[in-house]
Amino acid sequence: MARNQVQFQKGLGMAQFMALYGTEELCHEALVKMRWPDGFVCPKCAKRRYSFCAPKKLFQCSSCHRQTSVRAGTVFQKSRTPLTKWFLAMHLLTGSKNDISGLELARQIDVKWDTAWLIKQKLMEVMLQRNAIYKLSGDIQIDDAYQGSEKAGKRGRGAANKLPFVAAVATRDGRPIYMQLRCLPGFTKDAIKTYARANIAPGSRVLSDGLNCFKGIVAAGVAHVIKITGGGRPKDPDFKWINTGLGNVQSAIKSTLRSCDARHTPRYLAAFEWRYNRRFELAKNLERLARVAMMIEPQPRSTLAAIRLKSADLTG
Ligand SMILES: [Zn+2]
Repeated sequence: MARNQVQFQKGLGMAQFMALYGTEELCHEALVKMRWPDGFVCPKCAKRRYSFCAPKKLFQCSSCHRQTSVRAGTVFQKSRTPLTKWFLAMHLLTGSKNDISGLELARQIDVKWDTAWLIKQKLMEVMLQRNAIYKLSGDIQIDDAYQGSEKAGKRGRGAANKLPFVAAVATRDGRPIYMQLRCLPGFTKDAIKTYARANIAPGSRVLSDGLNCFKGIVAAGVAHVIKITGGGRPKDPDFKWINTGLGNVQSAIKSTLRSCDARHTPRYLAAFEWRYNRRFELAKNLERLARVAMMIEPQPRSTLAAIRLKSADLTG
C-alpha cells in the first residue's frame, strides 16, 4: 500500500525549530529579513541609513530620526509576548494537519489562556485574509453545511448560534487539491452567486447535489452540474472529497475545540482551509505564515471580537 504523502512527510521538527527560532534574537532577525530583505528602509522617508538600539530593538532613521520596530504596522505590533512564543505558536498552528486548542496552546507557549486565545485569533485572521486572495478552479465539488454550538450537520436548522458555510474542493485527476470553507449570510441564490463570483475562477465546473441556492453558481457565470443523491450527505463517489473534507473539519472542531463561538467560526474554518491547502509542505508553513503576518495590519482585540455577520443572519 502506498504511503500517505501527508502523514509521512518530514515537516519541521522541534530540534530544527529550536535551531532556527529558539532565541529572541533569531526570531527578530528572521522578521527583519522578511520585512526588509534588501536592508532597512525607513517607513517615513524611505532612506536606508539607520542606527539600531539593541535593548529596545528600535531602528532609528539617520535622516528623519523616525524610530520604528520590526513589529510596527504588522500583526505582531504592541504585543508584549516575546517573539519566541509567537514563533512557537505559529509552529504549533501550522506544523501539523491538526488544530491546537487555546488551552493547549497556552500550556505549550507558557502564557495565560487569554493571551494564547488572542495570539491564536490574530494568526487565524492572517490565514483568513490570505485565503481570500485565492480562487478555486477546474473540477470542483461543493456542499452546504452548518457549524455552531449544536451538533454540526448538513442543513441542520433552528439554533441561532449556527453559522452556514459552503465547503468546496477542487480536484485534479480525481484527487483533492485545494479546499475552501467560507461562511455565508444564508443559503440563498444571491449569497452563492456572490460567493462564486469572488471565489471560483471562470471556466470551472462545479458539481452539487442540486440544493436550490446552488443555482447562484450559474448566475455567477460558472458551469454547474447537478447530481441528485437523495437526502442526507451523499455517498456518491463523485462527492467523495467534499464529504471527506467536511467530515474532517467537523470532527476536528468537535475534538479539539469542543464548540466554537459563531463570531469566530470564520477564522476557525479559515485555519482549517489554510492548513489543508498547505498540507504537502509542512516544513515551510511557519515561514509562510510569518511572512503574511508581516504584511497584514495590526488586529486589535476589539476588531477580532466584533461579530462578522449579524445575528439575524446566522439562522440562514
Ligand atoms: Zn526616515
